[in-house]
Amino acid sequence: MDNCIFCKIINRELPSTIQYEDDRVMAFNDINQEAPIHVLIVPKVHIQSVNDIDETNADYLKDIHLAAKKIAQKLGVSEKGYRLINNCGESAGQTVPHLHYHLLAGVDMGTKLI
Ligand code: 5GP
Ligand code: ZN
Repeated sequence: MDNCIFCKIINRELPSTIQYEDDRVMAFNDINQEAPIHVLIVPKVHIQSVNDIDETNADYLKDIHLAAKKIAQKLGVSEKGYRLINNCGESAGQTVPHLHYHLLAGVDMGTKLI
């Protein structure tokens, strides 16, 4: 997608601090760190949101979760804990229309979601 900032990050047209990469997904630090650890995990293909997941691309969800586990291990928060969040659509606060999961850690987030 030409105008997608996450596609541009994936293609190295925009800089980012990469935490993890394989042939299917990339993970990089969120530009606006909401927690001591705040990483965005994205598929390397342009999928707009969870609404666009279907049988042909659902394997990316598996890849994202496997990446999340590896990133948590790498950053040393596997045991202490971390939160994986997806915002889908405007009301949920999705501001970038390229599927992404926020991996948040490094602070006690309690049980509240909002
Ligand atoms: P959303 O609100 O769509 O769930 O999350 C989008 C996230 O992308 C936000 O947390 C925002 O800080 C992050 N973001 C927006 N633009 C950039 C960028 O150019 N680089 C990086 N690394 N993160 C970005
Ligand atoms: Zn994109």
